[in-house]
Amino acid sequence: MNEAPRLFRCAICGTIKGDGNHWLLVFESRSMSVDGIGASAKTRVCVSHWDNVLALQAQTYPVCGNGHAHVLVDRWLSSNCLEASRKPASEASEGLNL
Ligand SMILES: [Zn+2]
Repeated sequence: MNEAPRLFRCAICGTIKGDGNHWLLVFESRSMSVDGIGASAKTRVCVSHWDNVLALQAQTYPVCGNGHAHVLVDRWLSSNCLEASRKPASEASEGLNL
């Protein structure tokens, strides 16, 4: 069987991942904690070095390097969400020299 390799695109600029790239993964981690007052949900944003298994998980965002990992973390800090409000790739990557 010939399975086509899975293509990963940077969540910010749309660049397709190659073999030798230093890509990162950004994802949210949710947990529930229960104390004397009640239960509360906590959400954290996590940045990981590339992992092929993790990359296939839903809600995991591949990024092409540190610069775009920062863009995603900044988005999460300001909006509490990693999901993009769609922008043209040329606008999103403006000013970055990749
Ligand atoms: Zn990128």
